[in-house]
This record gives sequence, C-alpha cells and structure tokens, in this order.
Amino acid sequence: MAIIIHGGADENVDQTDPVAPNHVDAKLAALREIIRDAWAALYSGKPALDVVERTVVALEDNPAFNAGYGAAIGAEGVELDAGIMDGRTGKFGAVTGITVVKNPIIAAREILETPYNLYQGIGANALAQEVARRRGLKCISARALETAYQRAKWERWKRRRNENPVKSSDGTVGVVAFDGTAIAAGTSTGGMTGKPKGRVGDTPLLGAGTFASADAGASATGEGEKIMQLGLTRYAVESLQRHRLSPQEAAESAIAALGAIGGRGGIIIVDNTARVGACTNAPLMTCAFMTAWMSASKVEAKEAVKGRSTADQE
Ligand code: ASP
Repeated sequence: MAIIIHGGADENVDQTDPVAPNHVDAKLAALREIIRDAWAALYSGKPALDVVERTVVALEDNPAFNAGYGAAIGAEGVELDAGIMDGRTGKFGAVTGITVVKNPIIAAREILETPYNLYQGIGANALAQEVARRRGLKCISARALETAYQRAKWERWKRRRNENPVKSSDGTVGVVAFDGTAIAAGTSTGGMTGKPKGRVGDTPLLGAGTFASADAGASATGEGEKIMQLGLTRYAVESLQRHRLSPQEAAESAIAALGAIGGRGGIIIVDNTARVGACTNAPLMTCAFMTAWMSASKVEAKEAVKGRSTADQE
C-alpha cells in the first residue's frame, strides 16, 4: 500500500508578500492531517479509488489549497476542473467549468462509472448538482468558494494584467494511491488566477494532469498548457513501465521533459510495488506521503531551485 498527495506547485513563494503571502505553512499543516486520515482509510482496506476521491474532497474543502473552497479566481470568477482515473479498469471521469458545488471530484467519480469520460459546462454543472443533492451536500454559488486570500490575488492580477499578462500558476491538489491491488489517481483545481472564462487546464484531461495504469499512477500540477502538450502524467507512467524506472526516476525524467519544452510544474507518482516519487521545477511544491515501507508519514516542501526538500517526519 502507498499514498502520495500534493498541494500544488507554487510560483509565488514569498511569505512576506503584503498582498497575498504564500501560505506554505498552512498547506503543510493541512497535508499532515489529511495524509493521516488517507492512510488510515487505505490501511482499513478501502479501495484506492475511494481513498483518492475522499482525500481529494478533504483537499477541496480546505481553503489553503487551490481547489474547491479557496480555488483561484478566473477573470470572470471561479471555475473548477477535476479528473479521476482507475488504473485497474482504465476508466476515467472528469468535469470542467464547475461553478455550483465545492467538490467537483465527486461528479468526476460519478462520470467514471458511466460509459463517458468528460462533461463540460452546463451538463457538468447539472450533473454535479444532482450528485451533490443525492449525497446530501450543499449546492453553492461560485462566489461562495472565494477566500480573502484568493480575492487579494485576483485584485492584484486585475491591477497588473495589462503590464504583465503572464499566467500565474496557483497550485492544484492531487492524490495517487495503491491499495495493494489497484492504483487510482485524482486531481482537482481552480486553475490559474485570471484565467479566461472557459479555459480548461490539464487537470481533467486523461494523461495530462491525471493518469493511472495497472503499473503506476500520477497527478500533475503547474502550467496546464505545457503539461497537456507533453501529456505529462502519461509520459511519466509510460516511461516508468518501458524503462523500468522507479517512481522517483520517472518523476524526475518527466519534469526534465516538461522543462525542455519550457514548462514549469510538478508531479507525484505511485507504483504497484508501493514506491512513491515526486519532483518539481517550480519554486516549490508541497506534498505528503506514506507507504507500507515507512514507519511514519512524511510531509515535504520540495524546493526545485535549491534541489532539496525540507522533510518533516511524524
Ligand atoms: N495545472 C493547473 C491548471 O493549469 C494549475 C496548477 O496546477 O497550478 O489549471
């Protein structure tokens, strides 16, 4: 058994920024709690797919992360994307442009159980509402997902968009788990601050932001357009399979390939021998993991620039 979680690749790591100080400490504290619950669920025998779904829900509910409540605000408001894949069956479910619920991963999981892969816009929102009602969850407005932190980032984006129209990556959340039999991967995001209405990133695209096979699974974060150009998660999983790489080697080679096309981001990977890997070329990526080989979970802030990570073991 093994599970790894990321809280997104961060472009702005300035913790003294007066407008929107990076809240890496809040992310690490939240990851510490969430990995504990996720591992307990996996250890109690829950299937990887269920553990991935419920762990992504916990990340979406936490305002420290750019997903669900606390999502990055696009040019015309919050629009959420999420995707989930079952490595055992190859089934995939995803939604884009969600504005009416805080947990798009639940709708994505529902789609995974159908013959379809991806719902968008009005249809996706109608389905998300129906699933939320059935599960006793509240339907909300996109405004209800905005936090003061993301609002401050959006206000600054608005002030500066003419002088600096560069896309700023805001993170994403992702989970990959191996339950001893099957692997599953899930990813959820608000995308990027100021993203144009209707823009879809890599997160809900099979093989870009989310991928799982019988051998390994992966979830990505960072510059969506470059991640899709490479098909980052599929690239990583297939290179692990083809070249018999460890998850860490596969993560490093995938991020090197992303860097080679000018992309920045991060990736987490789990394989079917319960090994994990994580790598980023963004200034920072938060992650947490636990495997059957370890005596306690690890929570890390991986810093690409210095090529090291600050780990803290429970
Ligand atoms: N990959 C996400 C997107 O492009 C954003 C991120 O992870 O920072 O929508």
